[in-house]
Amino acid sequence: MKFIIGNWKSNGTIEEKDAMFKSLKNVRTNNKIVLCLPFTLLDKNISHAHLGAQDISIHPNGAFTGDISGKMLKDAGVECVLVGHSERRLYHNETNDIVKNKAKVALDNQIVPIICIGETLEEKKTGRTMTAVKKMLLESIPDKYGDYIIAYEPRWAIGTGLTPTLEEISAVHETIFKALRGIEHEDTPILYGGSVNMDNASQISSLPHVDGLLIGGASLKSETFLPIINVVK
Ligand code: PEP
Repeated sequence: MKFIIGNWKSNGTIEEKDAMFKSLKNVRTNNKIVLCLPFTLLDKNISHAHLGAQDISIHPNGAFTGDISGKMLKDAGVECVLVGHSERRLYHNETNDIVKNKAKVALDNQIVPIICIGETLEEKKTGRTMTAVKKMLLESIPDKYGDYIIAYEPRWAIGTGLTPTLEEISAVHETIFKALRGIEHEDTPILYGGSVNMDNASQISSLPHVDGLLIGGASLKSETFLPIINVVK
């Protein structure tokens, strides 16, 4: 079983969400399909996919205007939540420490955190991919044990149409796997994300230690999302 997780970011209306779930009804797959929707589209009554969110507040409740707490997400039917997506790190200054705390809050609310990590273009160009990814991983995962998912998303590959080579993806996933094995967490699923489409999904998802895909742009429309689901075996 692989994970196929869509991230709608700041996109989508209720009508578009309903259309997507309607088209997912006809999909036959053994894989786990999750849609990480914006807060306005979180809907307990969805079927044919699992419900994910894109962020979680560090605070349990109170005077934090605009924040959505773990308890509220759980109440809305959310099963998993992205933490530390590169856009949150970049535009909202989320550090590894904040990401780690958000992952803990998710676990405290029985929500699976999908912890996103990935090198910048500068780190890649200067041969620092492995050290950057490993540091981000070890500083972003919660100390206490719980089920979390890691999403390796090279920052330069998100929304750009660029992807690392299959060899590069394999090498990073192996490094992440070994680091997780070092802390007795080798069963953690490791996803790849960054410009996945129907042409590269099959090959990327077949690589060793790639347990699924995190998909942004191509998850927004059934014409691009369903063919990905169909080629991931
Ligand atoms: C993402 O936002 O997590 C992502 C992988 O985006 P895209 O597929 O559009 O590169």
